[in-house]
Amino acid sequence: MKIGVLTSGGDAPGMNAAVRAVVRTALHYGMDAYGIYDGYKGLVEGKIKKLDHNDVGQILNRGGTILGSSRLKEFKEKYVREIAVNNLKELGIDALVVIGGDGTYRGAQALTDMGINCIALPGTIDNDIASTEYSIGFFTALDTAIGAIDKLRDTSFSHQRCTVVEVMGRDCGDLSVYSGIACGAEIVITKETGFNREDILKQVSHANAVGKRHLIIVVAENITNVFDLAKDVEANSGYEARATVLGHIQRGGNPSAFDRILASKMGSYAVELLRIGLGGQAVISKGLNVDHCNILDALSQSRNQVTDLYSYLPKLN
Ligand code: ADP
Repeated sequence: MKIGVLTSGGDAPGMNAAVRAVVRTALHYGMDAYGIYDGYKGLVEGKIKKLDHNDVGQILNRGGTILGSSRLKEFKEKYVREIAVNNLKELGIDALVVIGGDGTYRGAQALTDMGINCIALPGTIDNDIASTEYSIGFFTALDTAIGAIDKLRDTSFSHQRCTVVEVMGRDCGDLSVYSGIACGAEIVITKETGFNREDILKQVSHANAVGKRHLIIVVAENITNVFDLAKDVEANSGYEARATVLGHIQRGGNPSAFDRILASKMGSYAVELLRIGLGGQAVISKGLNVDHCNILDALSQSRNQVTDLYSYLPKLN
């Protein structure tokens, strides 16, 4: 059996650990392993290389993805995917492990429908894939966000400010709510909490009135402009305010212990699934345990599992 591995969509720390596990597990079983460079784009362009044991050495601990990633919207077109399938067939590659988010899963299902068995691993810092409790990269990004917010806290306290921090997550509030709890943010604003500017300004003014020295507000991306919010806070609450967008720094860095272990288990598990002839499957996490479900089921689920975490956020009033 010959299997390929690629990383796609937004990169996430731990993707390399998953690639390593796929390649080394495949080699262990006497299979050939191929790296596909730059995601589906590279698959279409034929950027495919046979990998040996040493090609995936020294990468377990590295952030980003040594295979590169990309976005190719044309991959939704069947004639484009046919080029990819032909490239695989020319090399005799039977099956693929893809690591990415929801979009990557859709591509994997489409390829499976065209005769290439695909296993999808959740690789995204956003933790926005419904089927899996945690995705590869989430906890590393969380650690990065926590480290940054801790630093902001130092200066926020010193200057008696209200600090507004935008945390990534695309449309998912997980990074925000987890970092809000871990950093003791006074207010966390996500799609799940909803955003009412007047209400927030009232809460911040109240905090000032009762003598709270400083304040941290964590805002998930795509909710509101944090610089405008900071201006409004400063104009209405009695605090000086500063806004910081953490941005892509959250995507980088060496993967955490959790992500290294999760990715290693998932990569190895994916090869086991391919060995027994399965395709169109998504690997899922239940904590550090791994399991699988149909990609189609994974895509049809909606996320609601962190809702209970919101009850642990501090109450200001
Ligand atoms: P993520 O995998 O992180 O969600 P994207 O949404 O950008 O990132 O998807 C990654 C890639 O998956 C896209 O650039 C595209 O090549 C492919 N893809 C997305 N949706 C589909 C689809 N419906 N059919 C086939 N391929 C898709």
